[in-house]
Amino acid sequence: MTQHMLSEDELIRVIQRTVKSRGRVRLGIGDDAAVLKDGTVITTDAYAEGVHFDLSYMSLRQVGERCACAAISDVVAMAAEPEAVLVALALPRVGSEQLAVSSFPSPQPSPARGEGVADAVRELYKGIESVCTEMKCEVAGGDIIVADQLMLALTVTGKTKTPKLRSGARPGDHLYVTGYLGSAEAGRLLLVEQVKSQKVKVKGQNGEWRMAEKILRFAQNDRIARPLVRRHLRPVPRLAVMRKVKSCIHGLIDTSDGLSTDARHLCEMSGVRIVLDAEALPVLPGVSRFCSARGLDLIDFVLGAGEDYELLFTSRRLLSATIRDVKVTRIGSVEKGSGLRIRREGSALPVTVTGYDHFGVDEHQTGC
Ligand SMILES: [Mg+2]
Repeated sequence: MTQHMLSEDELIRVIQRTVKSRGRVRLGIGDDAAVLKDGTVITTDAYAEGVHFDLSYMSLRQVGERCACAAISDVVAMAAEPEAVLVALALPRVGSEQLAVSSFPSPQPSPARGEGVADAVRELYKGIESVCTEMKCEVAGGDIIVADQLMLALTVTGKTKTPKLRSGARPGDHLYVTGYLGSAEAGRLLLVEQVKSQKVKVKGQNGEWRMAEKILRFAQNDRIARPLVRRHLRPVPRLAVMRKVKSCIHGLIDTSDGLSTDARHLCEMSGVRIVLDAEALPVLPGVSRFCSARGLDLIDFVLGAGEDYELLFTSRRLLSATIRDVKVTRIGSVEKGSGLRIRREGSALPVTVTGYDHFGVDEHQTGC
């Protein structure tokens, strides 16, 4: 991450200028996923240890779950049904025998030397498999290589006859979001604070079970923290809601990089202005408390916090507040014009807060 590094959007433009469209795909680079002419939707997502997941408080099973949820969410964000998952896995070259199965959340004995890799791979795939079971899709292949660092790349395919795109928002639409905003990032920061406050490294041969149990107790027993930590460790692709509202969706994206970045994508791709209503943004009480305890502006936090993997969509229809047991909130409107604004205390001002960019410098170091 140097000063000269281009932003992710700039790098995507470099790629778009380098590769040519040959009319083989219906929708190429630039949305949550590509769409082939037969309605197949296809997306790929890469995850690296220390950037997208943290083994100091996550088990390998949780890593598998979280990465699968994030990748599948991009297929759902095209209004498609997920079908197949391909997993490319890079296992650490040095000390791969020590790639031990973390005890969090189910303390278990350290695997014997030599069995560590098999156990680790099994745990990762158990996590991926549990999400596939829920989403009724399946692992269909992949690749395993040895590298310097644990990495995963998940390719997910899906099907839809009527993909919903980032470019579909129209003036006069309402802007909706499922669930709550800012939960996953607050949950992640709470876990990081827990790890730091214990002043013990979870990874390692000694003391790791005790440490993990402490964090587990925190995550399970703290009523305020529990839903936030849960959203970080196990986001839920909003497949059920998508199925229900699909026919009346115009523009659609999932919230992976933060509301400000994701809503801006809708604005730019649709050629419209979006005006957010600050008072309408749905946040759990724990996020409000998290921000006030740390002197953070709640609205700015929510605008920049990523990885909730909620659906952000526009529709001409007025929708009910709960769909398939999931909260659905109208958080703004689509107008003629350009740019993202937020109505706060009466005036609609341009949004300056940015979400996560893997290649830029940002306070909110999240990922996926
Ligand atoms: Mg996305």
